[in-house]
Amino acid sequence: MRLECPVCGLPVEVPDDALPGEVIEHDCGTVLEVVHDGDGVKLKPLDDIREDWGE
Ligand SMILES: [Zn+2]
Repeated sequence: MRLECPVCGLPVEVPDDALPGEVIEHDCGTVLEVVHDGDGVKLKPLDDIREDWGE
């Protein structure tokens, strides 16, 4: 399926069997998390779990 990146607005290819909690890195460099949205899923930026990225 194809969802919209909440950061850059471009389409993001997501596996049809993607589950909430799954993490996808978009071409724009944003790390996105699959979250529940009503009957389906949507994407949200994963900014809040970036504590160990600056090695
Ligand atoms: Zn993006």
